[in-house]
Amino acid sequence: LPEAPIESLQAADVAALLPRPASDAHKYTRGVVGVRAGSAAYPGAALLSVAGAACGLAGMVRYDGDAAAADRVRAAHPEVVGPGRVQAWVVGSGSDDGAEDAVRLSVADDVPLVLDADALAFAESARGRPAVLTPHAGELARMLGVERSEVEARWLAHARLAARRYDAVVLLKGRHTVVARPDGQVRVTMTGTPWLATAGAGDVLGGLIGALLAAGLDPFDAASVGSWLHGAAATQASAGGPIVASDVAAALPGLLADLMGR
Ligand code: AMP
Ligand code: MG
Repeated sequence: LPEAPIESLQAADVAALLPRPASDAHKYTRGVVGVRAGSAAYPGAALLSVAGAACGLAGMVRYDGDAAAADRVRAAHPEVVGPGRVQAWVVGSGSDDGAEDAVRLSVADDVPLVLDADALAFAESARGRPAVLTPHAGELARMLGVERSEVEARWLAHARLAARRYDAVVLLKGRHTVVARPDGQVRVTMTGTPWLATAGAGDVLGGLIGALLAAGLDPFDAASVGSWLHGAAATQASAGGPIVASDVAAALPGLLADLMGR
């Protein structure tokens, strides 16, 4: 691939890209994000994906997943509503064997997609669509048919390769997060903390990126802004000590207020 410059977003770049409601906004103009994540076996993935989506950047969050998980989502997030029209779908975290159906239904809607975890096995169907694929190194290795160690040794090259192969934005998660576009352009995120290496952290990220897509950001901006915010929220929540994934979601509104108030 031709050498494209590697960008790293700064706080001011992120602040400028954040969606703000117009004075005559209503919830539908602000964007509706739908979540198809979680299952009877993994209700936590539903809760955490919804928690990321419900950061307040989109006008509404819909949950369309497992019925038992839906009860828990409604109990934890009274503002979340049921299936209907959306401007972006978040698919895959903890979907278990429901991932294939969830991807098929979401692709049929012809709106931007976030595909994570189990949904990445069906990433072919996102080809050429506005989509963000969010693998960690092990998931990307499986997608490309290489060893995890190869991905870890050549992080940037594999993110770029996958973005070109799937003709979609690829966000490779790990110590450093790389966001690659099919044309080879990349952004690297450095805002995180190793305390973010905790179960469910990726689910929050997927929901957050979905909210940014629903609010109208293009997939490259949504993925890189989402990753920047996710890392910064984790760093703020951690303050050098341990955190769990829900702490990251809980830190988002305060972080967003700081950025928007600049
Ligand atoms: P997942 O593997 O889907 O749970 O996602 C893990 C999240 O934690 C991603 O946002 C990663 O970028 C982040 N993460 C994992 N390991 C590290 C690390 N060593 N340093 C910083 N962030 C990490
Ligand atoms: Mg994950």
